[in-house]
Amino acid sequence: MELRVIGCHGGETPKHRTCAFVVDDVLSIDAGSLTSGLDVGDQARLQACLVSHAHLDHIRDLATIADNRCQMGCPPLVVAGTKGTLRTLQQHFFNNLVWPDFAAIPNREHPTIRYLELEPEQPTLIAGHKVRAVGVTHTIEAAAFVIEGEDGGSIAYSGDTGPTDRLWEVLNAERDLRALLMEVSFPNREQGLATISGHHTPRTLGMDLRKYRAPQDLPTFLYHIKPVFQSEVERECAALRGLNMQVLQLLDHFVL
Ligand SMILES: [Zn+2]
Ligand SMILES: [Zn+2]
Repeated sequence: MELRVIGCHGGETPKHRTCAFVVDDVLSIDAGSLTSGLDVGDQARLQACLVSHAHLDHIRDLATIADNRCQMGCPPLVVAGTKGTLRTLQQHFFNNLVWPDFAAIPNREHPTIRYLELEPEQPTLIAGHKVRAVGVTHTIEAAAFVIEGEDGGSIAYSGDTGPTDRLWEVLNAERDLRALLMEVSFPNREQGLATISGHHTPRTLGMDLRKYRAPQDLPTFLYHIKPVFQSEVERECAALRGLNMQVLQLLDHFVL
Protein backbone atom coordinates (compact mmCIF):
# COMPACT_ATOMS: atom_id res chain seq x y z
CA MET A 1 0.00 0.00 0.00
CA GLU A 2 1.08 3.51 -0.73
CA LEU A 3 0.53 6.14 1.96
CA ARG A 4 0.80 9.88 1.39
CA VAL A 5 0.73 12.44 4.18
CA ILE A 6 -1.31 15.48 3.17
CA GLY A 7 -1.79 16.90 6.67
CA CYS A 8 -0.58 15.44 9.97
CA HIS A 9 -0.94 18.07 12.67
CA GLY A 10 -3.38 18.79 15.46
CA GLY A 11 -3.75 22.40 14.35
CA GLU A 12 -3.03 24.78 11.51
CA THR A 13 -0.44 27.41 10.61
CA PRO A 14 1.16 28.11 7.21
CA LYS A 15 3.55 25.24 8.06
CA HIS A 16 1.07 22.84 9.71
CA ARG A 17 -2.01 21.18 8.19
CA THR A 18 -4.85 19.34 9.86
CA CYS A 19 -5.22 15.61 9.33
CA ALA A 20 -5.61 14.01 5.92
CA PHE A 21 -3.85 10.98 4.44
CA VAL A 22 -4.25 9.24 1.08
CA VAL A 23 -3.87 5.49 0.50
CA ASP A 24 -3.15 4.25 -3.05
CA ASP A 25 -4.39 7.55 -4.53
CA VAL A 26 -8.05 6.53 -4.09
CA LEU A 27 -8.83 6.29 -0.39
CA SER A 28 -8.41 9.19 2.00
CA ILE A 29 -8.32 9.00 5.76
CA ASP A 30 -9.91 12.11 7.27
CA ALA A 31 -10.39 15.34 5.39
CA GLY A 32 -8.66 18.08 7.36
CA SER A 33 -6.54 19.24 4.42
CA LEU A 34 -7.85 17.40 1.35
CA THR A 35 -8.26 20.59 -0.67
CA SER A 36 -5.57 22.79 0.91
CA GLY A 37 -3.05 19.97 0.29
CA LEU A 38 -4.15 18.24 -2.93
CA ASP A 39 -4.45 19.67 -6.43
CA VAL A 40 -7.78 19.22 -8.20
CA GLY A 41 -6.60 16.21 -10.24
CA ASP A 42 -5.77 14.31 -7.06
CA GLN A 43 -9.04 15.46 -5.48
CA ALA A 44 -10.93 14.06 -8.47
CA ARG A 45 -9.06 10.74 -8.30
CA LEU A 46 -10.30 9.95 -4.78
CA GLN A 47 -13.10 7.40 -4.50
CA ALA A 48 -13.79 7.48 -0.78
CA CYS A 49 -12.96 9.24 2.48
CA LEU A 50 -12.90 7.46 5.83
CA VAL A 51 -14.02 9.88 8.53
CA SER A 52 -12.75 8.97 11.99
CA HIS A 53 -15.02 11.41 13.83
CA ALA A 54 -16.88 14.65 13.25
CA HIS A 55 -14.51 17.18 14.80
CA LEU A 56 -13.89 20.07 12.45
CA ASP A 57 -10.14 19.51 12.04
CA HIS A 58 -10.95 16.10 10.47
CA ILE A 59 -13.93 17.00 8.28
CA ARG A 60 -13.51 20.60 7.18
CA ASP A 61 -12.23 20.01 3.63
CA LEU A 62 -15.16 17.69 2.90
CA ALA A 63 -16.98 20.97 2.27
CA THR A 64 -14.55 22.25 -0.32
CA ILE A 65 -13.79 18.92 -1.99
CA ALA A 66 -17.52 18.35 -2.48
CA ASP A 67 -17.80 21.76 -4.10
CA ASN A 68 -14.84 21.09 -6.44
CA ARG A 69 -15.92 17.57 -7.37
CA CYS A 70 -19.47 18.70 -8.06
CA GLN A 71 -18.18 21.25 -10.56
CA MET A 72 -15.96 18.62 -12.21
CA GLY A 73 -18.84 16.15 -12.49
CA CYS A 74 -16.94 13.48 -10.53
CA PRO A 75 -18.58 10.21 -9.44
CA PRO A 76 -19.95 10.33 -5.87
CA LEU A 77 -17.30 10.48 -3.16
CA VAL A 78 -18.09 7.78 -0.62
CA VAL A 79 -17.99 9.31 2.87
CA ALA A 80 -17.62 6.39 5.27
CA GLY A 81 -17.89 6.48 9.05
CA THR A 82 -19.74 5.08 12.01
CA LYS A 83 -23.39 5.92 12.63
CA GLY A 84 -22.93 8.83 15.04
CA THR A 85 -20.26 10.45 12.89
CA LEU A 86 -22.43 10.35 9.76
CA ARG A 87 -25.43 11.65 11.68
CA THR A 88 -23.39 14.65 12.88
CA LEU A 89 -22.19 15.35 9.34
CA GLN A 90 -25.76 15.28 8.04
CA GLN A 91 -27.30 17.34 10.84
CA HIS A 92 -24.58 19.88 11.55
CA PHE A 93 -22.35 20.22 8.49
CA PHE A 94 -24.00 19.28 5.17
CA ASN A 95 -27.30 20.56 6.55
CA ASN A 96 -28.21 23.22 3.97
CA LEU A 97 -27.33 25.91 6.53
CA VAL A 98 -23.64 25.65 7.29
CA TRP A 99 -23.07 24.12 3.83
CA PRO A 100 -25.28 22.65 1.10
CA ASP A 101 -26.43 19.03 1.34
CA PHE A 102 -24.14 17.53 -1.28
CA ALA A 103 -25.82 14.14 -0.85
CA ALA A 104 -28.66 15.70 -2.86
CA ILE A 105 -26.64 17.83 -5.32
CA PRO A 106 -26.97 17.88 -8.25
CA ASN A 107 -29.69 15.33 -7.40
CA ARG A 108 -30.30 12.34 -5.12
CA GLU A 109 -29.76 9.80 -7.93
CA HIS A 110 -26.34 11.21 -8.87
CA PRO A 111 -25.08 12.98 -5.75
CA THR A 112 -21.67 14.50 -5.08
CA ILE A 113 -21.20 12.55 -1.85
CA ARG A 114 -22.69 9.26 -0.75
CA TYR A 115 -22.71 8.22 2.93
CA LEU A 116 -21.62 4.72 3.84
CA GLU A 117 -22.26 3.63 7.42
CA LEU A 118 -19.64 1.35 8.95
CA GLU A 119 -20.67 -1.25 11.51
CA PRO A 120 -17.96 -1.42 14.17
CA GLU A 121 -15.38 -4.10 13.37
CA GLN A 122 -17.26 -5.40 10.31
CA PRO A 123 -14.98 -5.53 7.24
CA THR A 124 -16.32 -3.38 4.41
CA LEU A 125 -14.83 -3.13 0.93
CA ILE A 126 -14.17 0.54 0.17
CA ALA A 127 -12.21 1.77 -2.86
CA GLY A 128 -10.57 -1.65 -3.24
CA HIS A 129 -9.52 -1.90 0.41
CA LYS A 130 -11.00 -3.92 3.24
CA VAL A 131 -11.75 -1.46 6.05
CA ARG A 132 -12.74 -2.01 9.66
CA ALA A 133 -13.73 0.76 12.10
CA VAL A 134 -12.80 0.18 15.74
CA GLY A 135 -14.19 2.40 18.49
CA VAL A 136 -11.63 4.48 20.40
CA THR A 137 -11.77 6.84 23.38
CA HIS A 138 -12.33 10.51 22.57
CA THR A 139 -14.83 13.23 23.60
CA ILE A 140 -17.34 12.23 20.88
CA GLU A 141 -17.94 9.00 18.95
CA ALA A 142 -14.63 8.27 17.25
CA ALA A 143 -13.12 5.37 15.35
CA ALA A 144 -9.75 3.97 14.42
CA PHE A 145 -9.44 2.22 11.06
CA VAL A 146 -7.68 -0.96 10.03
CA ILE A 147 -7.13 -0.92 6.27
CA GLU A 148 -6.14 -4.06 4.38
CA GLY A 149 -4.63 -3.89 0.91
CA GLU A 150 -4.85 -6.40 -1.94
CA ASP A 151 -1.79 -8.36 -0.77
CA GLY A 152 -3.30 -8.97 2.69
CA GLY A 153 -1.04 -6.57 4.58
CA SER A 154 -2.70 -3.93 6.71
CA ILE A 155 -2.10 -0.51 8.20
CA ALA A 156 -3.97 1.07 11.09
CA TYR A 157 -4.96 4.66 11.90
CA SER A 158 -5.80 5.52 15.50
CA GLY A 159 -7.94 8.61 14.90
CA ASP A 160 -8.17 11.01 17.84
CA THR A 161 -7.97 9.03 21.06
CA GLY A 162 -6.67 9.00 24.58
CA PRO A 163 -5.80 5.76 26.36
CA THR A 164 -7.97 2.97 24.93
CA ASP A 165 -8.15 -0.83 25.02
CA ARG A 166 -10.17 -2.47 22.26
CA LEU A 167 -7.95 -1.09 19.47
CA TRP A 168 -4.93 -2.91 20.90
CA GLU A 169 -6.83 -6.20 21.12
CA VAL A 170 -7.77 -5.85 17.45
CA LEU A 171 -4.22 -4.93 16.43
CA ASN A 172 -2.77 -7.81 18.44
CA ALA A 173 -4.88 -10.17 16.33
CA GLU A 174 -3.65 -8.71 13.01
CA ARG A 175 -1.41 -11.12 11.12
CA ASP A 176 0.47 -8.67 8.89
CA LEU A 177 0.24 -5.19 10.41
CA ARG A 178 2.81 -3.05 8.63
CA ALA A 179 2.37 0.35 10.25
CA LEU A 180 0.31 2.27 12.76
CA LEU A 181 -0.53 5.95 12.42
CA MET A 182 -0.85 7.02 16.03
CA GLU A 183 -1.99 10.26 17.54
CA VAL A 184 -0.10 12.24 20.16
CA SER A 185 -1.17 15.82 20.84
CA PHE A 186 0.08 17.50 24.02
CA PRO A 187 3.32 17.51 26.06
CA ASN A 188 3.41 15.69 29.39
CA ARG A 189 2.98 18.90 31.40
CA GLU A 190 -0.41 19.43 29.69
CA GLN A 191 -1.76 16.05 30.84
CA GLY A 192 -4.88 17.71 32.27
CA LEU A 193 -5.75 19.24 28.91
CA ALA A 194 -4.97 15.96 27.12
CA THR A 195 -7.22 13.98 29.46
CA ILE A 196 -10.17 16.35 29.24
CA SER A 197 -9.93 16.52 25.44
CA GLY A 198 -9.38 12.78 24.85
CA HIS A 199 -5.83 12.90 23.53
CA HIS A 200 -2.42 11.42 24.26
CA THR A 201 0.71 12.89 25.76
CA PRO A 202 4.01 11.05 25.16
CA ARG A 203 3.60 9.49 28.63
CA THR A 204 0.19 7.93 27.96
CA LEU A 205 1.25 7.09 24.41
CA GLY A 206 4.18 5.06 25.73
CA MET A 207 1.89 3.15 28.09
CA ASP A 208 -0.73 2.48 25.39
CA LEU A 209 1.79 1.31 22.78
CA ARG A 210 2.97 -1.32 25.26
CA LYS A 211 -0.48 -2.91 25.04
CA TYR A 212 0.68 -4.11 21.61
CA ARG A 213 2.47 -7.46 21.66
CA ALA A 214 5.68 -6.26 19.97
CA PRO A 215 5.80 -2.45 19.95
CA GLN A 216 9.49 -2.40 19.02
CA ASP A 217 8.61 -4.19 15.74
CA LEU A 218 5.67 -1.98 14.77
CA PRO A 219 6.56 1.08 12.67
CA THR A 220 4.58 3.78 14.45
CA PHE A 221 4.00 7.09 12.67
CA LEU A 222 3.10 9.88 15.06
CA TYR A 223 0.69 12.62 14.02
CA HIS A 224 -1.77 15.22 15.46
CA ILE A 225 0.87 17.07 17.48
CA LYS A 226 -0.40 20.56 18.36
CA PRO A 227 1.76 23.10 16.44
CA VAL A 228 2.30 25.19 19.59
CA PHE A 229 3.86 22.18 21.32
CA GLN A 230 5.59 20.55 18.32
CA SER A 231 9.22 20.59 19.48
CA GLU A 232 8.38 19.77 23.10
CA VAL A 233 6.26 16.74 22.15
CA GLU A 234 8.90 15.54 19.69
CA ARG A 235 11.58 15.77 22.40
CA GLU A 236 9.47 13.82 24.88
CA CYS A 237 8.65 11.14 22.31
CA ALA A 238 12.33 10.78 21.42
CA ALA A 239 13.02 9.99 25.09
CA LEU A 240 10.67 6.95 25.06
CA ARG A 241 12.63 3.71 24.81
CA GLY A 242 11.86 0.32 23.24
CA LEU A 243 9.44 1.71 20.66
CA ASN A 244 9.66 2.17 16.90
CA MET A 245 8.39 5.68 16.26
CA GLN A 246 8.83 8.49 13.80
CA VAL A 247 7.05 11.83 13.64
CA LEU A 248 5.23 12.31 10.33
CA GLN A 249 6.04 15.31 8.17
CA LEU A 250 3.97 16.96 5.45
CA LEU A 251 4.48 15.27 2.05
CA ASP A 252 5.90 12.08 3.59
CA HIS A 253 5.35 9.14 1.27
CA PHE A 254 5.59 5.45 2.20
CA VAL A 255 5.20 2.14 0.40
CA LEU A 256 4.07 -0.36 3.02
ZN1 LIG B 1 -11.13 15.17 17.80
ZN1 LIG C 1 -8.25 16.19 15.86
